[in-house]
Amino acid sequence: MRKNIVAGNWKMNNDLAATKTLISELIELKKTSNTEIMIAPTFVNLLEASKLLKETSIKVVSQNMHYAESGAFTGEISAKMLKAVGVNTVILGHSERREYFNEDDLILKEKADKALQESMEVIFCFGEQLDDRNSENHFKVVENQIKNALFHLPSSSWKSVILAYEPVWAIGTGQTASPEQAQEMHAYIRKLVAEHYNTSISEDVSILYGGSVKPENAEEIFGKLDVDGGLIGGAALDAKSFMAIINSF
Ligand code: PEP
Repeated sequence: MRKNIVAGNWKMNNDLAATKTLISELIELKKTSNTEIMIAPTFVNLLEASKLLKETSIKVVSQNMHYAESGAFTGEISAKMLKAVGVNTVILGHSERREYFNEDDLILKEKADKALQESMEVIFCFGEQLDDRNSENHFKVVENQIKNALFHLPSSSWKSVILAYEPVWAIGTGQTASPEQAQEMHAYIRKLVAEHYNTSISEDVSILYGGSVKPENAEEIFGKLDVDGGLIGGAALDAKSFMAIINSF
Protein backbone atom coordinates (compact mmCIF):
# COMPACT_ATOMS: atom_id res chain seq x y z
CA MET A 1 0.00 0.00 0.00
CA ARG A 2 1.45 3.33 -0.94
CA LYS A 3 1.70 6.09 1.64
CA ASN A 4 0.52 9.68 1.55
CA ILE A 5 3.50 11.90 2.22
CA VAL A 6 3.98 15.64 2.55
CA ALA A 7 7.62 16.72 2.60
CA GLY A 8 8.84 20.26 3.20
CA ASN A 9 11.97 21.29 1.35
CA TRP A 10 13.34 24.24 3.30
CA LYS A 11 16.12 24.87 0.75
CA MET A 12 18.74 27.42 1.94
CA ASN A 13 16.36 28.98 4.47
CA ASN A 14 16.19 29.03 8.27
CA ASP A 15 19.25 29.40 10.47
CA LEU A 16 19.51 27.41 13.70
CA ALA A 17 17.17 29.68 15.68
CA ALA A 18 14.56 29.71 12.91
CA THR A 19 14.85 25.94 12.55
CA LYS A 20 14.11 25.46 16.25
CA THR A 21 11.16 27.86 16.10
CA LEU A 22 9.57 26.31 13.01
CA ILE A 23 9.95 22.80 14.42
CA SER A 24 8.41 23.73 17.76
CA GLU A 25 5.51 25.43 15.96
CA LEU A 26 4.97 22.30 13.86
CA ILE A 27 4.97 20.05 16.91
CA GLU A 28 2.28 22.22 18.50
CA LEU A 29 -0.08 22.00 15.52
CA LYS A 30 -2.61 19.22 15.19
CA LYS A 31 -2.37 16.71 12.39
CA THR A 32 -5.78 15.39 11.39
CA SER A 33 -4.74 13.22 8.45
CA ASN A 34 -2.64 10.05 8.49
CA THR A 35 -0.12 11.61 6.14
CA GLU A 36 3.57 10.99 6.73
CA ILE A 37 5.40 14.27 7.39
CA MET A 38 8.97 15.01 6.39
CA ILE A 39 11.05 18.16 6.66
CA ALA A 40 14.35 18.90 4.94
CA PRO A 41 16.36 21.59 6.76
CA THR A 42 19.80 22.61 5.55
CA PHE A 43 22.76 20.33 6.37
CA VAL A 44 24.05 22.24 9.42
CA ASN A 45 20.68 22.04 11.14
CA LEU A 46 19.92 18.35 10.54
CA LEU A 47 21.37 17.21 13.87
CA GLU A 48 19.34 19.70 15.88
CA ALA A 49 16.19 18.87 13.88
CA SER A 50 16.73 15.16 14.50
CA LYS A 51 17.10 15.74 18.24
CA LEU A 52 13.99 17.92 18.43
CA LEU A 53 11.87 15.47 16.42
CA LYS A 54 13.19 12.26 17.97
CA GLU A 55 9.98 11.48 19.87
CA THR A 56 7.67 12.45 17.00
CA SER A 57 6.70 10.80 13.72
CA ILE A 58 8.09 13.70 11.66
CA LYS A 59 11.04 12.50 9.59
CA VAL A 60 14.12 14.63 9.05
CA VAL A 61 15.36 14.49 5.47
CA SER A 62 18.46 15.74 3.68
CA GLN A 63 18.23 17.96 0.60
CA ASN A 64 21.21 16.28 -1.06
CA MET A 65 24.21 14.01 -0.53
CA HIS A 66 27.35 12.87 -2.30
CA TYR A 67 27.69 9.45 -3.93
CA ALA A 68 31.15 8.61 -2.60
CA GLU A 69 31.80 6.73 0.59
CA SER A 70 34.23 9.40 1.89
CA GLY A 71 37.32 11.24 0.73
CA ALA A 72 38.57 14.36 -1.03
CA PHE A 73 35.25 15.98 -1.95
CA THR A 74 35.48 19.38 -0.32
CA GLY A 75 32.15 20.73 0.82
CA GLU A 76 30.26 17.49 0.36
CA ILE A 77 28.32 15.23 2.74
CA SER A 78 28.18 11.43 2.65
CA ALA A 79 25.33 9.01 3.29
CA LYS A 80 27.02 7.69 6.43
CA MET A 81 27.37 11.22 7.83
CA LEU A 82 23.64 11.75 7.33
CA LYS A 83 22.75 8.47 8.98
CA ALA A 84 24.99 9.32 11.93
CA VAL A 85 22.77 12.33 12.70
CA GLY A 86 19.54 10.37 12.36
CA VAL A 87 18.76 11.15 8.72
CA ASN A 88 17.69 8.15 6.67
CA THR A 89 15.94 9.85 3.75
CA VAL A 90 17.47 12.04 1.05
CA ILE A 91 16.02 14.23 -1.69
CA LEU A 92 17.89 13.66 -4.97
CA GLY A 93 17.56 15.36 -8.32
CA HIS A 94 15.81 18.55 -7.27
CA SER A 95 15.64 20.85 -10.28
CA GLU A 96 17.76 23.44 -8.45
CA ARG A 97 20.51 20.82 -8.03
CA ARG A 98 20.19 19.92 -11.71
CA GLU A 99 20.20 23.53 -12.89
CA TYR A 100 22.68 25.31 -10.57
CA PHE A 101 24.98 22.42 -9.69
CA ASN A 102 24.97 20.55 -12.99
CA GLU A 103 23.64 17.32 -11.57
CA ASP A 104 22.80 15.07 -14.50
CA ASP A 105 21.15 11.67 -14.78
CA LEU A 106 24.48 9.86 -14.41
CA ILE A 107 25.40 11.61 -11.16
CA LEU A 108 21.88 11.08 -9.84
CA LYS A 109 22.06 7.41 -10.70
CA GLU A 110 25.23 7.12 -8.61
CA LYS A 111 23.69 9.06 -5.75
CA ALA A 112 20.57 6.90 -5.78
CA ASP A 113 22.70 3.76 -5.82
CA LYS A 114 24.75 4.92 -2.86
CA ALA A 115 21.74 6.00 -0.80
CA LEU A 116 19.96 2.70 -1.42
CA GLN A 117 23.12 0.71 -0.72
CA GLU A 118 23.21 2.50 2.65
CA SER A 119 19.56 1.48 3.25
CA MET A 120 18.38 5.05 2.93
CA GLU A 121 15.09 6.12 1.41
CA VAL A 122 15.27 8.29 -1.72
CA ILE A 123 12.88 11.02 -2.79
CA PHE A 124 13.76 11.26 -6.47
CA CYS A 125 12.74 14.53 -8.18
CA PHE A 126 12.27 15.09 -11.88
CA GLY A 127 10.23 17.34 -14.14
CA GLU A 128 10.17 19.18 -17.41
CA GLN A 129 11.05 22.76 -18.29
CA LEU A 130 8.38 25.05 -19.73
CA ASP A 131 9.84 24.70 -23.24
CA ASP A 132 9.47 20.93 -22.99
CA ARG A 133 5.82 21.24 -22.13
CA ASN A 134 5.14 23.83 -24.80
CA SER A 135 6.75 21.56 -27.39
CA GLU A 136 4.79 18.58 -26.00
CA ASN A 137 8.01 16.87 -25.08
CA HIS A 138 7.24 16.66 -21.36
CA PHE A 139 6.39 12.96 -21.20
CA LYS A 140 9.61 12.01 -22.99
CA VAL A 141 11.77 14.27 -20.79
CA VAL A 142 10.31 12.88 -17.58
CA GLU A 143 10.52 9.32 -18.89
CA ASN A 144 14.23 9.71 -19.65
CA GLN A 145 15.01 11.29 -16.27
CA ILE A 146 13.41 8.36 -14.45
CA LYS A 147 14.74 5.63 -16.75
CA ASN A 148 18.31 6.93 -16.77
CA ALA A 149 18.62 7.25 -13.01
CA LEU A 150 16.37 4.52 -11.61
CA PHE A 151 15.41 1.78 -14.06
CA HIS A 152 18.60 -0.21 -13.49
CA LEU A 153 17.55 -0.76 -9.86
CA PRO A 154 16.47 -4.21 -8.75
CA SER A 155 12.79 -4.57 -7.85
CA SER A 156 13.73 -4.93 -4.19
CA SER A 157 15.04 -1.33 -4.07
CA TRP A 158 11.71 0.21 -5.01
CA LYS A 159 10.28 -0.09 -1.52
CA SER A 160 12.75 2.68 -0.61
CA VAL A 161 11.98 4.96 -3.56
CA ILE A 162 9.53 7.87 -3.52
CA LEU A 163 9.01 9.75 -6.78
CA ALA A 164 8.42 13.51 -6.93
CA TYR A 165 7.12 15.08 -10.12
CA GLU A 166 8.11 18.74 -10.09
CA PRO A 167 7.51 20.62 -13.32
CA VAL A 168 10.27 23.23 -13.26
CA TRP A 169 7.94 25.98 -14.50
CA ALA A 170 5.78 25.52 -11.39
CA ILE A 171 8.52 25.64 -8.75
CA GLY A 172 8.54 28.85 -6.74
CA THR A 173 6.63 30.63 -9.49
CA GLY A 174 3.14 30.55 -8.02
CA GLN A 175 2.09 28.82 -11.22
CA THR A 176 0.79 25.38 -10.23
CA ALA A 177 0.21 22.54 -12.64
CA SER A 178 -3.52 21.94 -12.81
CA PRO A 179 -4.72 18.91 -10.86
CA GLU A 180 -5.47 17.32 -14.25
CA GLN A 181 -1.94 17.97 -15.54
CA ALA A 182 -0.49 16.46 -12.35
CA GLN A 183 -2.77 13.42 -12.55
CA GLU A 184 -1.99 12.89 -16.24
CA MET A 185 1.77 12.84 -15.58
CA HIS A 186 1.52 10.75 -12.42
CA ALA A 187 -0.58 8.13 -14.22
CA TYR A 188 1.97 8.12 -17.05
CA ILE A 189 4.83 7.56 -14.58
CA ARG A 190 2.97 4.77 -12.81
CA LYS A 191 2.40 3.08 -16.17
CA LEU A 192 6.13 3.35 -16.99
CA VAL A 193 7.03 1.70 -13.70
CA ALA A 194 4.43 -1.03 -14.29
CA GLU A 195 5.79 -1.72 -17.78
CA HIS A 196 9.41 -1.87 -16.66
CA TYR A 197 8.79 -3.72 -13.37
CA ASN A 198 5.26 -4.82 -12.47
CA THR A 199 1.96 -3.45 -11.17
CA SER A 200 2.72 -4.42 -7.61
CA ILE A 201 5.69 -2.01 -7.61
CA SER A 202 3.89 0.67 -9.60
CA GLU A 203 0.87 0.62 -7.31
CA ASP A 204 3.03 0.74 -4.19
CA VAL A 205 5.33 3.62 -5.12
CA SER A 206 4.28 7.01 -3.74
CA ILE A 207 4.35 9.76 -6.35
CA LEU A 208 4.42 13.28 -4.92
CA TYR A 209 3.63 16.47 -6.80
CA GLY A 210 5.72 19.60 -6.25
CA GLY A 211 5.33 23.11 -7.61
CA SER A 212 3.60 25.99 -5.80
CA VAL A 213 1.40 23.77 -3.64
CA LYS A 214 -0.43 25.93 -1.09
CA PRO A 215 -3.23 25.38 1.43
CA GLU A 216 -5.65 26.78 -1.20
CA ASN A 217 -4.86 24.24 -3.92
CA ALA A 218 -3.57 21.19 -2.02
CA GLU A 219 -6.91 19.43 -1.51
CA GLU A 220 -7.76 19.45 -5.21
CA ILE A 221 -4.31 18.24 -6.25
CA PHE A 222 -4.13 15.55 -3.53
CA GLY A 223 -7.62 14.43 -4.50
CA LYS A 224 -6.33 13.01 -7.77
CA LEU A 225 -6.02 9.25 -7.95
CA ASP A 226 -2.29 9.02 -8.63
CA VAL A 227 -1.12 11.95 -6.50
CA ASP A 228 0.11 10.61 -3.17
CA GLY A 229 1.26 13.84 -1.60
CA GLY A 230 3.49 16.81 -2.16
CA LEU A 231 7.00 18.16 -2.02
CA ILE A 232 6.50 21.66 -0.70
CA GLY A 233 8.94 24.57 -0.94
CA GLY A 234 7.74 28.06 0.01
CA ALA A 235 4.62 27.01 1.91
CA ALA A 236 6.66 24.65 4.11
CA LEU A 237 8.41 27.63 5.71
CA ASP A 238 5.25 28.60 7.56
CA ALA A 239 4.06 26.04 10.14
CA LYS A 240 0.34 26.81 9.73
CA SER A 241 0.46 26.66 5.92
CA PHE A 242 2.47 23.45 5.98
CA MET A 243 0.10 21.77 8.44
CA ALA A 244 -2.90 22.96 6.42
CA ILE A 245 -1.39 21.25 3.36
CA ILE A 246 -0.72 18.09 5.39
CA ASN A 247 -4.32 18.13 6.58
CA SER A 248 -5.64 18.52 3.04
CA PHE A 249 -5.77 14.75 2.70
C1 PEP B 1 10.31 22.73 -4.43
O1 PEP B 1 11.29 23.45 -4.39
O2 PEP B 1 10.46 21.49 -4.38
C2 PEP B 1 8.99 23.34 -4.55
C3 PEP B 1 8.00 22.59 -4.91
O3 PEP B 1 8.92 24.68 -4.29
P1 PEP B 1 7.57 25.57 -4.23
O4 PEP B 1 6.56 24.81 -3.42
O5 PEP B 1 7.99 26.84 -3.56
O6 PEP B 1 7.13 25.76 -5.65
